[in-house]
Amino acid sequence: MQIKNEAPPGCGPRLPGTGDAPRPLRQQVFEYVRAHGRAARSDIARDLSISAGSATTLTADLIAANFLREVDGVPRDTGRGRPPVALEVVPRAACVIGIKMSYTRHTAVLADFAGNMLADTDLPTSLHRRTLPDLMDEITALINQLLTISGKTANQIDAVGLGLPGIVDHDAGVVSWSALLRAGEQNLAAAFAAQFPMPLYLDNDANMLTLAELWFGAGRARRDFAVVTIEDGVGMGLVLNNRLYRGARGMGLELGHTKVQLDGALCRCGQRGCLEAYLADYALAREAATALDHAPDVRQSPQQTLDILFRQAKAGHQSAQTIFRRAGRYLSLGLSNVVQLFDPKLIILSGERMRYDYLYAKEVLAEMQALTLSQGRAPCEIAIHVWGDLIWARGATALALSALTDTRIGEARTP
Ligand SMILES: [Zn+2]
Repeated sequence: MQIKNEAPPGCGPRLPGTGDAPRPLRQQVFEYVRAHGRAARSDIARDLSISAGSATTLTADLIAANFLREVDGVPRDTGRGRPPVALEVVPRAACVIGIKMSYTRHTAVLADFAGNMLADTDLPTSLHRRTLPDLMDEITALINQLLTISGKTANQIDAVGLGLPGIVDHDAGVVSWSALLRAGEQNLAAAFAAQFPMPLYLDNDANMLTLAELWFGAGRARRDFAVVTIEDGVGMGLVLNNRLYRGARGMGLELGHTKVQLDGALCRCGQRGCLEAYLADYALAREAATALDHAPDVRQSPQQTLDILFRQAKAGHQSAQTIFRRAGRYLSLGLSNVVQLFDPKLIILSGERMRYDYLYAKEVLAEMQALTLSQGRAPCEIAIHVWGDLIWARGATALALSALTDTRIGEARTP
């Protein structure tokens, strides 16, 4: 187990993808430079297995298009003489916005083409189901706040990435179902296009967090890994070969709604026995109402209730400790199911809620291992990653940056 928050330079996956649909070399070169922060042509040629001549031609093309620029060289550990000229992404080549819509507070981040955060903002909201026009009003308010802070206009924003809880059809830009929306299927991309000039890329919020790990976090040096997060619900994301796995209908990886008990506790989805009904904020807050010395105020959010519960557990309150331990056991069960189904090398437990250390106590990880058939193989590595709340929106910038890289540098111009 490791707790990491340090960030190597650059952003995006550091390992080249392998597999059936290789990206154009021009895009691979650009992504290599962005992932390393700075890179010399000789490093690009070596790591991408291309000739020095190809590296020179491809980088010249990217420099002419104003996507890359030359900077002072990367110092060598050994050797003498002038370090070779290095390349880096031109940050101003593009500008994107990432947005996370949630139950209590929406957040948004402005980032440049190198992935640097330029500004952030938030918008308090309340736990209620709204109409699509009301949701669009909130999105507009967030974007306008960011434009005001940064002094930019909507025309200077090249793409927007947006994550929200629920079932999302990424390709169609349609929200199939979300607890944020009153009605069922809603074409959010079309509503957005009617109001803004830039394209919108939409995804489930757990996928945003997974992209954040792939672009900015512990997943940068891995091609394949899983992310499990516990917040308002229990989310999961899976990266295979540097790409998010989304399932056929955008309904996959709903770990929170896998059943862990027949006819068990009632879940928000209306079904019974879902993992989420034992592990999510609202499930713990429900139990806290009977366990706390003082019944929680009805005006408290589940998160406030949980913070009180956590403090009481730390102070030795047995019922509070029992609630976290039981949640931890259900997490073991959920994680062992993930290992059994996908056999990932690494699972990242990610999100703000990981400050509740009971959830990944030694016993939890031991129980996860005990529930998994491993035939003497090394256990799946578990990394704990505590992020601030902005990371979700930052993951949404990665969604926009990734799409923009595909269209501007990849398919749009193949070498
Ligand atoms: Zn459920």
